[in-house]
Amino acid sequence: MTSTKLAPPAIADSVVATIGNTPIVRLSSAGSKAQVELLAKTEFSNPSGSIKDRVAQRILTGLEAAKRIKSTTTLVVPSSGNLVISLALLSPSHGQYKVIGLVPERTSQDRIQLLKSLGVEIVRTPIEAHADSAESQFSIAKKIATDLPDAILIDEFADAVNVQVHSQETAEEIFIQCEGRLDVLVVGVETGGTITGLAKTLKAKIPGLKVVGVEPEHSSIQDGVNRSSAWKIEDIGGNFTPSVLDKSLVDAWVKISDQESYSTARQIIREEGLFCGPSSGSVVAAAVRFAESLSKETTKPRILTILNDTGRNYASTLLSDDWLLEHDLMDETMARSVAYHRH
Ligand code: PMP
Repeated sequence: MTSTKLAPPAIADSVVATIGNTPIVRLSSAGSKAQVELLAKTEFSNPSGSIKDRVAQRILTGLEAAKRIKSTTTLVVPSSGNLVISLALLSPSHGQYKVIGLVPERTSQDRIQLLKSLGVEIVRTPIEAHADSAESQFSIAKKIATDLPDAILIDEFADAVNVQVHSQETAEEIFIQCEGRLDVLVVGVETGGTITGLAKTLKAKIPGLKVVGVEPEHSSIQDGVNRSSAWKIEDIGGNFTPSVLDKSLVDAWVKISDQESYSTARQIIREEGLFCGPSSGSVVAAAVRFAESLSKETTKPRILTILNDTGRNYASTLLSDDWLLEHDLMDETMARSVAYHRH
């Protein structure tokens, strides 16, 4: 297949200048199967490998402008992992502050290793703990930030910056890249920052745009019903509705199982050549499912998915056939592709 090369970007003064402006790539295989024009914004192309570099950069610039951050400052961050990685990676560009990450037990060993290599102090928190309970990552983070001198709590679940960065920056990129033509936007949800920010701007600019939120099976973000948090998929879902999420901007919700998420992520890697993480699998699976519900009478709908992080951070889970088999996460399609590999 021939493909037009994109123009080379200019020399960057630091890693900070390389955040954002991520390419949008056509998902040819999944798109032709679903009979839609399926696109993916490759947020895994950001320097740390995830969309959270954008949020981290905004948070740090805000703290600097308010003169609240110095080399002795400790940032205390409850997160599923990616925001902690971003904050740690950007630390040299903003004064070498320290980072303590409160990450759930489901966070992969690979990302824990990555965090350690960046000098992050890690506290693992139980996934079953409700946000309001004393054992939750939020309660523990609050306590650490109160007890420790010169510490700042970074709460992306409640910080308006987490929405602003996507409404002012990511959405504008998408509008330009898509030349204003988009029918459906499909986004994975945890804090709700990405979906709320993108929907705010893009719905105002593109009349009729449908926004679809994606969460794991059993997750409670959409309905707030307290149930088990025992899904494996990292970075999306939760057992409460975060305050930054504006549900009125979401037209439909799709729930995706662990097995479908992991197998779709592996399929995107094998069939599209895009090295995405597990939550991207959930998002593409949801886009395909939503496409089925669209009327086939109109011209081919254009659906944009956001692929939020890189598969390279999941060597011991998503990329491990043994781990997938052990956790019953390999469906027939994936098992066949593995068998093919092993012969
Ligand atoms: N996918 C990945 C890989 C993420 O790191 C996150 C954020 N935890 C999400 C999806 C969900 O994005 P948001 O927090 O903006 O809802």
